[in-house]
Amino acid sequence: MSSLYPNLFRPLDIGGITLPNRSVMGSMHTGLEDRIRHADELGEFYAERARGGVGLIITGGIAPIRSGDLMAMGARMATPLAVRHHRRVTDAVHGAGGLIAMQILHAGRYGVTPFKAAPGSEPSPIHPFRHIRMTEGMIRRTIRSFGRAARLARLAGYDAVEIMGGEGYLVNQFLCPHTNDRTDRWGGSTVNRQRFLIEVIDEIRRQVPREFPVILRQSVADFVDGGQTFEEIALLARRAERHGVDAVNTDIGWHEAKVPTIVTSVPRAAFVKFTERLRDEVSIPLIASNRINTPEVAEQVLTDHRVDAVSMARPFLADPRFMEKAAQGRPGEINTCIGCNQACLDHIFVGKRVSCLVNPRAGRETTLVLSPTRSAKRIAVVGAGPAGLSAAVSAAEKGHRVTLFEARDHVGGQFAIAARIPGKEEFHESIRYFRTRLAVLGVDVRLGTRVSAQELTEENFDHVILATGVTPRVPRIEGADHPMVMTYAQAVRGEREIGHRVAVLGAGGIGFDVSEFLTTPSGPDSPSLHLKEWEQEWGVTEDLDTPGFLTTPRPEAPLREVYMVQRKPTRQGRTLGKTTGWVHRAAVKAKKVEQISGATYERIDDDGLHLAFYEEKKDRKGRVVSKVLTGRRVLAVDNIVLCTGQESVNDLAEPLAAAGVTFDIVGGADLAAELDAKRAIRQGTEAAARIA
Ligand code: FAD
Ligand code: NAP
Ligand code: SF4
Repeated sequence: MSSLYPNLFRPLDIGGITLPNRSVMGSMHTGLEDRIRHADELGEFYAERARGGVGLIITGGIAPIRSGDLMAMGARMATPLAVRHHRRVTDAVHGAGGLIAMQILHAGRYGVTPFKAAPGSEPSPIHPFRHIRMTEGMIRRTIRSFGRAARLARLAGYDAVEIMGGEGYLVNQFLCPHTNDRTDRWGGSTVNRQRFLIEVIDEIRRQVPREFPVILRQSVADFVDGGQTFEEIALLARRAERHGVDAVNTDIGWHEAKVPTIVTSVPRAAFVKFTERLRDEVSIPLIASNRINTPEVAEQVLTDHRVDAVSMARPFLADPRFMEKAAQGRPGEINTCIGCNQACLDHIFVGKRVSCLVNPRAGRETTLVLSPTRSAKRIAVVGAGPAGLSAAVSAAEKGHRVTLFEARDHVGGQFAIAARIPGKEEFHESIRYFRTRLAVLGVDVRLGTRVSAQELTEENFDHVILATGVTPRVPRIEGADHPMVMTYAQAVRGEREIGHRVAVLGAGGIGFDVSEFLTTPSGPDSPSLHLKEWEQEWGVTEDLDTPGFLTTPRPEAPLREVYMVQRKPTRQGRTLGKTTGWVHRAAVKAKKVEQISGATYERIDDDGLHLAFYEEKKDRKGRVVSKVLTGRRVLAVDNIVLCTGQESVNDLAEPLAAAGVTFDIVGGADLAAELDAKRAIRQGTEAAARIA
């Protein structure tokens, strides 16, 4: 037992099994479930987490019947063949000493398949294909299929099953008037809407022995209009317990909810009180979830709130050895999930395998391996941004002797700028992780050292990794050298005074971030660190009688008057993350940032930013054939912040090549276009993995 986290490391009984600690790896679709050929990779993915000490692993959602598939030909547990394939996964986890539950998920109207079925008639606002409205016969067959999936899961060696009853999937669709407009015995009154789930539980209990644990993933805050009230949620939990559910794993928000529930700007453990409210209703274990990402937060949740375990999904993608490090009192070495969604959920939504921005080995456990070297080499890494940090740590983990040069007096590169944006405070955790690992691994870190090619050559390193990153682009605009103009780096680092009226040039990821920075308190006053303010901003109410717990958002007034301008005529923010872009778009809208697209930058002078607007005519090949001026506008601003992209810093490459030094180039130094920390960290890790 860890003395740092005594509550986290207490065992917990759930039905017939005993978890060695209070951590549950929540269900996450990885993209490996759907094809039998990936079974061994999936097994190793879970086994690595089991070896790292996770108390109970819950699989990604597995459909019980075709109409419930998440995607066409997606993972399903309905045949003996599926049992054989799942055996490989459960054997791998048991071989690693872990416990694993299979989640039974019927997607209902959230399926990305033409065969999907749901209780009501309202189509999904976020998925293609219309669904079939379920008939009485289909409902009966579906209930039986849940029982069959549980029976087969037990045969496949799973230690438990979890019924997905939240996030707006089928069970949740039955539960809420939002999606259940039926007038038969499956709709209308609360008891009617709960009938489907209760019959599913009864059917599962008929098909598996009483000691086989059944967990219910229950939505405790739908965050949609026409969501459940607390009275309904409490009634359901009580009924679920009476009908044989052994634990309630709580779930927050539907996929279509307009309240962010897992992104980085959501305060840590924001929803634990929604879980705790069930404490007086049931005596079975209650599991809290969402934005619990460090052992400190987990321990605090278990200590201060009357819940029995914590569910963390993405934190175990970020660090499979999270629990082991916590148990050994090495929390500083945990690679913390920063809630960016960039390599996990964003991948799933475009049909790519799940990985992790801060841990590119996630999902590639068998192919991206940092095997120990047999002959330690002297490696120089230049630049301590994400690319250089991951290269240095990975090379040192392999046993090489690493020297890391950084021009500034701190590590982090552009990522350290990102961490100053309100809502991105979590990014500091990655920098803390790398800093701690560098120290533990004995990397020679030389801060304040802008190393030259000559110095690198003279030190005679066996290999060099150039990770010199990027610098903000200063576009060619007349007056770009006016004193009112600054780069995003100068603005966010606080190197310059910023007035009240500001034009942000460029509306990419950084333009949006800077607009939020200029309009929202940052540092210790950031709303992400203050739950009440954050709830007010997004319209979350704790009022028990409000269905779905939604109220009118009341964001704080913006700190400044901001214009965000881009040259493209398209809607701003289209290139932002799939699952996070809407949050940024909503945030700048709430701060009344005026978004101006299709502008031509004419000049900057004492009057401000001069814009012109043209209507362009294009030929069939998209070439501009004529331009007609349609208007001009002067933004009388105090300052202009350039967020107009970046350029690579790679001046060391040529002289190193000329001197015959072997080197790799990674991250922004390699290519500035479409750069993000995900690519930077992946390239750094891969470069280190290649050094024998
Ligand atoms: P850099 O971060 O630029 O690091 C390069 C380092 O090399 C610097 O520290 C520099 O000082 C050092 N250096 C250069 N030359 C030398 C030399 N000769 N000797 C020694 N040291 C040298 N990315 C995301 O994925 N998600 C986000 O949400 C996100 N948000 C962002 C928000 C903001 C406001 C900003 C500015 C960036 C954001 N990014 C985000 C982008 C991300 O930070 C960059 O893609 C990433 O930092 C690039 O990593 P890098 O290591 O290649 O380069
Ligand atoms: P970006 O998304 O490429 O945006 C650059 C912006 O600058 C565009 O709006 C572009 O729009 C404008 N621009 C480009 N060249 C210009 C020029 N010569 N003159 C004037 N305007 C010019 O890149 P970024 O915002 O700099 O972000 C860098 C990377 O960081 C991104 O690739 C992103 O992945 C990452 N990032 C991610 C997040 C996130 O939340 N996931 C947040 C921040 C950053 P016009 O050409 O239309 O004017
Ligand atoms: Fe967490 Fe981002 Fe990794 Fe997803 S990609 S697990 S959100 S750090």
